[in-house]
Amino acid sequence: MKPSERESLRRRLLERRRMLAGDGGHLADAVRHNASGTTSGDLSNAPYHMADVASEAYEEEFTFRMMESNDDEILAIDDALEKMREGTYGECEECGMRISNVRLHAIPQARLCIRCKRSEEERARRPAATGFIPLSQAGRSAGLVPGASVRMRA
Ligand SMILES: [Zn+2]
Repeated sequence: MKPSERESLRRRLLERRRMLAGDGGHLADAVRHNASGTTSGDLSNAPYHMADVASEAYEEEFTFRMMESNDDEILAIDDALEKMREGTYGECEECGMRISNVRLHAIPQARLCIRCKRSEEERARRPAATGFIPLSQAGRSAGLVPGASVRMRA
């Protein structure tokens, strides 16, 4: 990757980070506001029906989840920026291979190459299969089909 290319990705990461951090702050304010309203103990100015309270709790939970996923993305962006400083940007965290430029342009904060990302998603789709080692590259080239391997079950 050319330095100028990396620089443009760096700018995109910084821009995205600013946006996420801004949104996160805004959401956090909204949650704090809600929380202070419902924990004050003064019911006179809290004319909630049970349904309203339930839906509000749901919204809060939803907001927290949004913040969580924002935080994850911010962490990934910080890591990517750190790697740019260290000169290790664009290396897969799993296998150490170079992540393709196409992928980095699509997702500048990508931690994994497409191959490792796919096997990670494969693992995530099959939570019952913990302990099962996904096919290695050797397995793939030997023509094994994912899911065809015999698994030990308790
Ligand atoms: Zn990889």
